[in-house]
Amino acid sequence: MSQIDDLPPLREVIATHNLSARKALGQNFLLDLNLTAKIARLAGDLTATDILEIGPGPGGLTRGLLAEGARHVLAIEKDPRCRPALDEIAARYPGRLTIIEGDALEIDPLRHLTPPIRVAANLPYNVGTELLVRWLTPHDWPPFWQSLTLMFQREVAERIVAQPGSKAYGRLSLLAHWRTEPRIALTLPPEAFTPPPKVSSAVVHLTALPEPRYPANAKTLERVVAMAFNQRRKMLRAALKSLGPDIEDRLIAAGIKPTDRAETVSLEAFCALARAVDAP
Ligand code: SAM
Repeated sequence: MSQIDDLPPLREVIATHNLSARKALGQNFLLDLNLTAKIARLAGDLTATDILEIGPGPGGLTRGLLAEGARHVLAIEKDPRCRPALDEIAARYPGRLTIIEGDALEIDPLRHLTPPIRVAANLPYNVGTELLVRWLTPHDWPPFWQSLTLMFQREVAERIVAQPGSKAYGRLSLLAHWRTEPRIALTLPPEAFTPPPKVSSAVVHLTALPEPRYPANAKTLERVVAMAFNQRRKMLRAALKSLGPDIEDRLIAAGIKPTDRAETVSLEAFCALARAVDAP
């Protein structure tokens, strides 16, 4: 029995179901259930919310979320080998865990969730970044979720919370600060995982703001920011030239010097630029 529930310890679960970690699926498991319960608490009050968990694996974080009182967890897992272990958790918490087998990038979870909703996940880095950008850039705001509590490589976490002018400032910082309050809630050494990854990790907690800090169309802002930072050493008039022959005028209309580089431009100015790009 573990300390947070009466299910077997995760090492035993992994051995019983033969869940040797697969690199291709980015599998680095958290086996310390006290730690997963702590991460679940970082997600906030769970008792009156549904939780979307992506990539539950053998279920460490899932068990943390349920033990901490989550009303209902929807867990989407790509690796079918994890199913029997997850079914055991569902049996221990009747009616509180729904499991979907599949790729989180292709599944719409909303059919299975009742607001208010929080998202919690320990995901492979590339899938995590792609999902984060999607969750931050829906057309309408507020989004379907109240908060995101996500594990990233520490370097990516630092990019998400970075301020303008810093080396880590870029697309992720801008999109995160535009519509959320992002902060690093916990850092973890490689040894916290089995097998240990090469680098440290961090849990980022993002709380959705009721409204974006500045008005802009999400798709335009995403495109402008991606182009600006893809060529971050170039002056903006060069990095953004494919946006049209009048890009210099639009930069000036947004109060940005065409010779500036992306890393010196504030979120407010990028939002003004997105509006200028959309103007007739
Ligand atoms: N949450 C578990 C934990 O903390 O121990 C597992 C974390 S492991 C880093 C990432 C998990 O995401 C793996 O179980 C992997 O199979 C799953 N995964 C990878 N790509 C996925 C995708 N596209 N959709 C859903 N799950 C995915």
